[in-house]
Amino acid sequence: MKDDSDYLLLSQLTHAGYCLRRVALVMNEQVWAESSDTAKGRMEHDRVHDRRIERRGEQIKLFEYEVYSDTLQLRGKCDCIEGSADVQGCQIPSVDFPVKLYPVEFKHGKVRAEEEYEIQLCAQAMCLEEMFHTTIPEGAIFYTSSHRRLSVELTEALRQKVCKTAEILRSIRDGYLIPKAEYSAKCKKCSLSDICMPKVQSSAKHYCEQMRREAEDT
Ligand code: SF4
Repeated sequence: MKDDSDYLLLSQLTHAGYCLRRVALVMNEQVWAESSDTAKGRMEHDRVHDRRIERRGEQIKLFEYEVYSDTLQLRGKCDCIEGSADVQGCQIPSVDFPVKLYPVEFKHGKVRAEEEYEIQLCAQAMCLEEMFHTTIPEGAIFYTSSHRRLSVELTEALRQKVCKTAEILRSIRDGYLIPKAEYSAKCKKCSLSDICMPKVQSSAKHYCEQMRREAEDT
């Protein structure tokens, strides 16, 4: 791997899908605030995040596996990579037979279709493909609270979204930009709402416009 200090984190791709302003505040202003949701997610994440390899016959599971892509300039960790023996598969360290890889990302809460999770999973697969010269057509998202998993087809369209999201994030980071707040239902659950103040921003804008109109009328 090349010098990775400029590489985006895979988790930032997920945050970008939630709100670009949020990820920019964390990335460019280094702010953070915990909410009950983020604390619960972190605790569940810590529970499952224990780096190890499990092997049963011709099936393996790699937990907390570090991945990167020099092409996409991304780095991060896969929660779990499942591997099954396959002559068409790839050779990976610590395993003495070729395997077909299947990344699984853990999320807390109930099963829900969130595109940002699919983007993060697809980015993990793209890193693995580059590292081990293989192809990964599918992965899964495992919801720890409900113990259910959703399989995700890693389509060309999803891969394009990975590239586009990384491009947008890079332009925000390199330009030290903070996108404007757009108040939505997500703001009610956002742990950064006290710092972001999305309603104040819109009302302040409205106030300034009103002041400008009054000044023009006098
Ligand atoms: S409060 Fe809303 S606009 Fe502000 S960072 Fe959070 S989600 Fe984004």
